[in-house]
Amino acid sequence: MSERFFVETPIVSASASLFGTEAHHLMHVLRARVGQEVTLFDGSGAEFHARIAALARSHVELEVLERRDVDRESPIGITLGVALPKGDRQRWLVEKVVELGVKRLIPLKTQRGVVQPAESALSRLRRTVIEASKQCGRNRLLEIMPPCQWDQFVASADSRESCRLVADAAATVIASRIPVAPQHATWLAVGPEGGFSREEIALAHHHGWQSISLGPRTLRVETAAIQLCAIVAASCDAPS
Ligand code: SAH
Repeated sequence: MSERFFVETPIVSASASLFGTEAHHLMHVLRARVGQEVTLFDGSGAEFHARIAALARSHVELEVLERRDVDRESPIGITLGVALPKGDRQRWLVEKVVELGVKRLIPLKTQRGVVQPAESALSRLRRTVIEASKQCGRNRLLEIMPPCQWDQFVASADSRESCRLVADAAATVIASRIPVAPQHATWLAVGPEGGFSREEIALAHHHGWQSISLGPRTLRVETAAIQLCAIVAASCDAPS
């Protein structure tokens, strides 16, 4: 895979432009020259073979040579609700769940959660999504949704068609033996460092969620999220 660059606006013609961080990386870090070929993606699911047409002071103009529909998405549309950990661990979690093919991430507001990401933190995480997608070859971006209260989150996934699993150390079922087949709409939930309260777990059960254990050790939020997503994704991912 050649060096990949993310274009903010959908590519619909034979030309495209890179601005900001992407243009800086191409011009000043990679010292690209006119005529050099690169791969572009715009989050639409396709990738584009392109050639640098002009280097301006703050942007790069490219000629789009070919559009290719390359699907590296997981067949399971995973929505992950997670009470985000702090700082670097938050960024690390997002990077890894992009690689695992998670479709949507919803920061959860729970009783014992301490971190409520501000809009500035969420936009930094969206940048992490782009960086991780460039690296792992995804042509669709993981969507980071606005933070959501636990009661709304568990109720919004209330549908007979979806598989819904909440990571709960008190569960008797182990995640490697998932009791239901992951489906196109699979919802997963991981709690805060302080854990879910018993009422929060009971509310999830009321809406049809199943508690699932990740083993006898207490995992940090990001480890639990990655392990749960990996088990579910691995049950359906196929080689490219
Ligand atoms: N202090 C809390 C631990 C929270 S760990 C307690 O003692 O309960 C953060 C979150 O990761 C938990 O809310 C749960 O969703 C998930 N998690 C951590 N370890 C787990 C395990 N062994 N099984 C299932 N979920 C786990």
